[in-house]
Amino acid sequence: MGIYQKTVFSLLFIGYGLCANAQSLFYTLRFPEPQTHYAEVVLEIKDVKQDSLDLKLPTWAPGSYLIREFSKNVERVFASADDKPIPIRKINKNTWRVYTQKKKFISIKYSVYAFEWTVRTSIVDETHAYLNGSNVFMFVKGLEHLPIRLKIEPYQSWNKISTQLPMEAQDPWIRTAPNYDFLADSPLEIGNHEVVSFEVLGVPHEFAIYGVHAFDIKKLIEDTKKIVLQAVKVFGEHPCPNYTFIVHCGHNLGGGLEHLNSTTVMTESFTGATPSAYANFLGLIAHEYFHLWNAKRLRPDALAKVDYENESYTSLLWIVEGFTSYYDDLLCYRAGIINRDFYLQEVLAKNIHSVVCTPGDSVQSLAESSLDTWIKYYRKNENTRNSQVNYYQKGSVIGMLLDMEIIKSSQGKYNLDTLMARLYHHFFKKGKTYSENDVKQQIEFLVGKSLTSFWQNYIYGTNPIPYEEFFAPFGLKLVYEPQKLFLGILVEERNCRLYVKEVERSSPAWRAGISAQDELLSINGHRIESKAFWDNYMNYLLPSQVVQIMVSRYNRVQEIPVNTGNYANCPFIQIKPLQDSSDNFIQSVWLKTSE
Ligand SMILES: [Zn+2]
Repeated sequence: MGIYQKTVFSLLFIGYGLCANAQSLFYTLRFPEPQTHYAEVVLEIKDVKQDSLDLKLPTWAPGSYLIREFSKNVERVFASADDKPIPIRKINKNTWRVYTQKKKFISIKYSVYAFEWTVRTSIVDETHAYLNGSNVFMFVKGLEHLPIRLKIEPYQSWNKISTQLPMEAQDPWIRTAPNYDFLADSPLEIGNHEVVSFEVLGVPHEFAIYGVHAFDIKKLIEDTKKIVLQAVKVFGEHPCPNYTFIVHCGHNLGGGLEHLNSTTVMTESFTGATPSAYANFLGLIAHEYFHLWNAKRLRPDALAKVDYENESYTSLLWIVEGFTSYYDDLLCYRAGIINRDFYLQEVLAKNIHSVVCTPGDSVQSLAESSLDTWIKYYRKNENTRNSQVNYYQKGSVIGMLLDMEIIKSSQGKYNLDTLMARLYHHFFKKGKTYSENDVKQQIEFLVGKSLTSFWQNYIYGTNPIPYEEFFAPFGLKLVYEPQKLFLGILVEERNCRLYVKEVERSSPAWRAGISAQDELLSINGHRIESKAFWDNYMNYLLPSQVVQIMVSRYNRVQEIPVNTGNYANCPFIQIKPLQDSSDNFIQSVWLKTSE
């Protein structure tokens, strides 16, 4: 179909063969005792010109916006030249300074403890090694641009490696990277995992699956191909030379992280055998895949160059993550993986519900949520729902509203795809990143009017969104189903005792002074003997009554009167047709599928 273009990176590989005399970096990765969860790294630097070199390990993994201090896992750092030790000193939390003593060839060896099983960290055990470059490979300050060779020495029977790093001379155990950014962005799965290869639009794809799973592999490939085709349709081209899905299946695993030509996704072992879990998993696949354009290539100015040591503040994660969240479901819907009713009720209505029913939505703006991700999003506590809005969920809702606004204003000529494609071609393809104003101007061009008040109200403000005004032109309305009375107390059972887990902002319990971590002892004189008792009691609350709740706080017992008032649980939301919506053109444009 002529839409496959090789990425600029594949062109870069041509001609960067390591010259004999050029300054170069050569990493070796070993696992002498994987059962102890250690990886051993040797970095050899050739043609050293500097008197001293600073070696640094990143403090965070790009795509996961929290300072995680990966150097906490580094130990036994030694430097040598001509097989003799040379001085190396640690000078701050993540920097080691090596004094080169006029030597031209130096070697640094260190060990990394890798025992944190998430998409953004690393795990080494006797069965495999999963490594994120940002956790494991130090970079040399000032030499980040140099091409890199990486030699992997697998443990005993390990016989496979899956990574986006290209092979050197068809040797799977020697990989190359054009620079440190590429190495840091290239997770490695090494061991005896299952490898399944397939092609879409001429681009080789690979699933590297570690762990016990219940996937029907043939169906997984079919569904993934559908998602790939829908994603490519949005942007008009596939930018990767190849693409690798590293999939980990196991107990309590979840999440995904995007990389330039690959992703790591984690899920439960039973996912492939449970239709709802499998549909969610395909949504995760679609999410990470969409990132290969929106995040890894099309990027806000603040994320143009990765700063591996400091926070990179941006107010635009609602585009990077939120729009990607909108598209992960939309691609599955367009591909026929989820049907129209499911998409409207279980996806869109639930997204709106999750925003409307988060008290923090009226406290924190979307832009602030993005900017503060470094200190808030990954550090949730009992007050998070009261004080924060999730830029994935609300960003997805804003993506939906802008999609609808573009379709309505252009009478079906444009949609959000038009915006994404325009941004991709106007910015990434021209070697540029985008500013917030760039995005706003592009949308304003498509809708033919100013979006300043939209920005003020819903991006930088916390004003309630008038959903009805957006849905009505599409022949749709939101139906709110009233819920039962609610004190605002979320509970959890620990050691056969019932505790307050969260108190909802502005609820009766909030106003009365019930606190998170209070132990619930009795209500109206009845001993609270179990969560079942509490839940049952809550079913029979009457409006405008005072209930006496006895709690233990810091081991001091006190009784707190709570007026039930008329406060109810957040209403259940459904998206329903307006009576006269049988032939709504813009609705048919918005909800078109590939069939
Ligand atoms: Zn994401």
